[in-house]
Amino acid sequence: MAVPFLDLSAQYLSIQQEISSAIEEILHSHAFIKGPSVTKFETMFSEYLGSKHCVGVGNGTDAIFLTLKALGIGHGDQVITVPNTFIATSEMISATGAEIVWADIKTDTYLMDISSLDSLITEKTKVLLPVLLYGNVPDMETLSKYAKDKGLYLVADAAQAHGAKWNQQHITDFVDAATFSFYPGKNLGAYGDAGAVVTNNAQIAEKIRMLADHGRKEKYVHQLEGYSSRLDSLQASVLSVKLPHLGEWNSLRQQKALLYSENLRHIPEITLPASLSQSDHVYHLYVIRVRGYRDELVKHLKERGIQTGIHYPLPLPFQPAYEKKMWPEDLSRLSYTKQIADEILSLPIFPEMTNEQVKEVCDAIHSFFIKIRR
Ligand SMILES: *Cc1c(COP(=O)(O)O)cnc(C)c1O
Repeated sequence: MAVPFLDLSAQYLSIQQEISSAIEEILHSHAFIKGPSVTKFETMFSEYLGSKHCVGVGNGTDAIFLTLKALGIGHGDQVITVPNTFIATSEMISATGAEIVWADIKTDTYLMDISSLDSLITEKTKVLLPVLLYGNVPDMETLSKYAKDKGLYLVADAAQAHGAKWNQQHITDFVDAATFSFYPGKNLGAYGDAGAVVTNNAQIAEKIRMLADHGRKEKYVHQLEGYSSRLDSLQASVLSVKLPHLGEWNSLRQQKALLYSENLRHIPEITLPASLSQSDHVYHLYVIRVRGYRDELVKHLKERGIQTGIHYPLPLPFQPAYEKKMWPEDLSRLSYTKQIADEILSLPIFPEMTNEQVKEVCDAIHSFFIKIRR
């Protein structure tokens, strides 16, 4: 039995009828941009997160950029983020003209290490930008207190963490803004590019809305120069159909994760995903660490038709794009991130995955370790 890393068709089939009529409705209304379906989704998503405002934008990358711009970030400012994320996070810091400062990560959760921040903060630091990597949640309460204490904005890159909570509270409660991606493979995925910013701050929301639509509030009045990054109506209508299922889909992911952990916990070379007890991890990815044999295990699984991923094989500060900007001291400080990048392995996980498929992956992993011990 082959196990794909992700299977979007099973989910589509389960909501096919609703999707078709939602799309039909938009086609008949021909309100493709800024139509009522966008407002409807924005309202639904902010309500889902118990938050005041949601601004739909073109994608999750723009969500980060527009948030930083709305906060006034630019040349001469520094933004602290993590080295083990998708490049969108850091790219958009640079796109504003600000400087990226790389925080250390925790050895168990691989999330931002709050204790590393003191030594990184300067008078130029304006924003803390933690990433809810894999759907896991850092200590939002401490981060929020810390940011307030230091007079910094706290923005969460929640592209992988729709619906994740800290201590039973939505993560949006703790931040100035949280950015989301609805890239098709994310926990809440559109059928194309889409993104959003969620905030409790009306001014931030209004500024982002203007920036995302050529700096205007009214059709022919441009308050400022902006950008073109709007959530389109077709994607919004797809997201409105999918959102009511998100809670169930997240708990199905959590069940698969639990099943994996039960099955893999006795293998000494494997470290299971760790999260703090207050973190309601939504398992966008189920990532284990394999000491010594990662690449051999990938090959073994591939031969059995099991797809895996690595998120991410080369941490950003070590990427060619950043090579020239890095100091040797920083690279050696971040060596832990580099080390775990050689050990992490993302196993297949998606809500519609069957328990048999999880077992299949676990059996294949067990057979690998039996083989190497012979
Ligand atoms: C997916 C992702 C993004 C970017 O989202 P897009 O919608 O693809 O632009 C940003 N940050 C993280 C951590 C992501 O996983």
